[in-house]
Amino acid sequence: MTEFTYRLPQKRRIATDIPGPRSTEWEIRRRAAVAAGLASSVPVFAVDADGGVIVDVDGNSLIDLGSGIAVTTVGASHTLVAAAVADQAARFTHTCFMVTPYDGYVRVAEELANLTPGEHEKRSVLFNSGAEAVENAVKIARLATGRSAVVAFDHAYHGRTNLTMALTAKAMPYKSQFGPFAPEIYRMPGSYPFRDEPGLSGAEAARRAIARIEKQIGADSVAALVYEPIQGEGGFIVPAEGFLPALSVWARANGVVFIADEVQTGFARTGDWFACDHEGVVPDLITTGKGIAGGMPLAAVTGRADLLDAVHPGGLGGTYGGNPVACAAALATLEFMRESDLPARAREIEERVVPRLRELAREIETIGEVRGRGAMLAIELVRPGSNEPDAELAKAVVSEALSHGVIALTCGTYGNIIRLLPPLVISDELLADALDVLEAALRARSAARVLAFES
Ligand code: PMP
Repeated sequence: MTEFTYRLPQKRRIATDIPGPRSTEWEIRRRAAVAAGLASSVPVFAVDADGGVIVDVDGNSLIDLGSGIAVTTVGASHTLVAAAVADQAARFTHTCFMVTPYDGYVRVAEELANLTPGEHEKRSVLFNSGAEAVENAVKIARLATGRSAVVAFDHAYHGRTNLTMALTAKAMPYKSQFGPFAPEIYRMPGSYPFRDEPGLSGAEAARRAIARIEKQIGADSVAALVYEPIQGEGGFIVPAEGFLPALSVWARANGVVFIADEVQTGFARTGDWFACDHEGVVPDLITTGKGIAGGMPLAAVTGRADLLDAVHPGGLGGTYGGNPVACAAALATLEFMRESDLPARAREIEERVVPRLRELAREIETIGEVRGRGAMLAIELVRPGSNEPDAELAKAVVSEALSHGVIALTCGTYGNIIRLLPPLVISDELLADALDVLEAALRARSAARVLAFES
C-alpha cells in the first residue's frame, strides 16, 4: 500500500461521551441560530480533521467512514491542498471568470478533458455544487437538442434546487411540500439487482426503461437521460452489468444526450477515475463535484464540445463558479490522486472490506446484501428472514458505531443502507479498527433485532 503522511495521529480515541459536554453546549447555540431544516447526522462539532480522523471539540478522535459525503477523498486537510489554497488566497481570491479569466480554471478544464471517459474533443464549465452542475447539464442538453423531456430514474438523487428536486426520486425529506416541481421530467425504472425480479439482466432492465420511454414520451422528444452509474443517496445501487452500456447505445442512436451524474462516484472513489470507466461507457456529458477539490466547493459539467459550444455566450455561468481558490485546490487534489494512484487504493480498500463483510453476511441474517465498488461500499439491512428494508436497524448500528468513535452514514430510498465512504488516504490499521467497531455494532444490534422480531 502507498504510505501516506499525516498531521494528526491516526487513532480512534474516546475522551468523553459522544456527544461530549462541549458539543452539547454548542448544539444549544446552533439550534438558536441555524435553521432546523438543516439536519446533521453526527451530533459533534469538528475542530480538526486529517487523513481518516475527525477530532471534535471535546477531544474525541473519530474514524471517518463518510468523507463529508464522499468529498474528502484525499483527507480534509491534505498538506498539498492546504498549501495550494493558501498560495492562491494570498494572490487573489476572486475576479469572476466571467469578468477576468485566470489560468487555474482553464487548467481544471484541461484536467477534466483528460480524465473523463472518451477521447473526443471536450469542453467544461465549472460551478459551485453538484446540483448546479446537473441543472446546467440539463440546460445544455435541452438547448443543443431543441427537445424538452428529461428522463430520470427510480432511486435517483441529483440535488435540492428546483430542477434537481424534480429529478430526485425520494419525496421525504428532499421534495415533500417543496413543489411545484419543474415540468417535463419523467421517471423510469432503473436497475436494482437486489430488489428487481431475480435474474433480470442489465440489458433487460435497460429494455424495460427504453420501452416505457418510447411509449410514454417518444424518443424524439427526449433531450437527455440522467443516471448515476452507481446510485448514491438512493442506496449505493450498482446496476446489473450491461445496463449502462445498453442505455447509452440507445441514447446515442436516438439523439438523446446521456448525462452521467458522477458527482458522488467520481475521482477515484469507485476504483476507476469514474464509475462509467468500469464498463467503458462514454457519456455525452458528465457532472462532477464532491471529491474534485479536496473539500473546496467546485463542480463541473464536462462533455462533447459540440454540445457545450452550442450554448450562446453568457448562457452559462455564475458569480463564483470555478473560484480560483477552489481551482487551485482541485489541481493539487488531482495531481496527488494521480501520483499516488488513488483508484488503485480504492480497489485495495474494497479488497479489505468486502470479503470481511460478506463473511459476516453469511452469519447475520439481517444483512441482505454487501455491495459497491472501490471505496463506495454498502450494507443493505433487512428484517430477519425477509427482504423487507430495516431502516431502524441501520440507524441503531450507525448510532452504536458512533458511540465507539466511528462515523458511518446511512442512505437509501428505504433508509436501510449503511454506506462506507472512507477517505482513500485512510491507513489500513485505522480502517481495520473501524471495521472491528462496525462489525461488533452489526452483531449486537442485529441480535437485538432478531430477538425483538421473535418475541
Ligand atoms: N448528484 C449526486 C449523484 C449526488 O450524490 C449529489 C450530492 N449528494 C448531488 C448531485 C448534489 O450535489 P451538491 O450537494 O453538491 O449540490
